[in-house]
Order: sequence, then C-alpha cells, then structure tokens
Amino acid sequence: MSAIQQNIEAASASYSASFTKGDLELPPARKYLVLTCMDARIDPAQAFGIELGDAHVIRNAGASALEALRSIIISQQLLGTNEIVLVKHTGCGMLTFNNDDAFDIVERNLGQAAVEELKESKIDFLPFPDLEQAVYNDVAFLKASTLVPDSVEISGWIYEVETGRTNRVV
Ligand SMILES: [Zn+2]
Repeated sequence: MSAIQQNIEAASASYSASFTKGDLELPPARKYLVLTCMDARIDPAQAFGIELGDAHVIRNAGASALEALRSIIISQQLLGTNEIVLVKHTGCGMLTFNNDDAFDIVERNLGQAAVEELKESKIDFLPFPDLEQAVYNDVAFLKASTLVPDSVEISGWIYEVETGRTNRVV
C-alpha cells in the first residue's frame, strides 16, 4: 500500500471515530455552491467558512465556469442551490501557460494519439492571462447562460494564497 493510501486509512480511522454528522440531508442546507480551483493551497471549508452539509464545492483547474457547468446544473436543478460563489486565486497555474503549450506537452509526454484524442474530445485547457479579468469573464458567462436562472445570485472573488484572505471582485 502506498504512503498516500496509508495516510487515508489513518485519517479515516481518526475522523470516523468522532464523526457525528451522519444524518445530514443530501441537498446543501444553505443552498449555495462554491466553484474554486483545485489548487492544493486552498482549503475551501476553512477559508470560505463552509460547514459540512451547507454547500456544494466544485473544483477544477482554474475554477472554470465552463468546465463546471454540468455540476452547476445538477446542483441547481436537482439539488436546489440558488447562489454561486466563484473563487479564483493568486498564483494560479492557469496563468502560466496557453493552449499551444499544453498541447505540446501532451504530445511530448503522451504522443500523437493522445493529441488526436484531445482534439476529438474538443478539450480546451481554458488557461487565462489575467486573473481579475478571468473572474469577470466567468461571472458574465454564468449570468448570460440560459442554463443558470436569472434569479441566481452570483459573485466573483479572488483568494490570496499569500495571505489566506478572500477579496470580492464582482
Ligand atoms: Zn488555480
């Protein structure tokens, strides 16, 4: 068993030993969703004040609203959330490359067949050159989407990995 697997076994034993929240409802109690980056330096529950059972937390590379759309629709239409908090962050890896760079790396590491699969799957890595602009763009994208009701409250934020602070942008 890998060290990572041993870690999860140890954490599970300790977490479950004092676990008392087995009766939470499936729909998030506070009816909101947080969309943030998968960056390892972000602890959404701690940094954004999310109690267990209160909110959906959707994570992907760069907190992309486009990539998260499937989960957002499920969260809102099937599980009743009606507010979106979008949080990108300083030092995001998505600021450091463009699509051509990513395709080159995939080709070098995984070969031409992998590049063909990327193209067939129409995968865009969705990098962005300007952090604040990317927050505006993703909030605008969600507001314009017919898949997100007009009644949904949407805000955009930037988490600072340097300070632990989260500041509202829009
Ligand atoms: Zn990031």
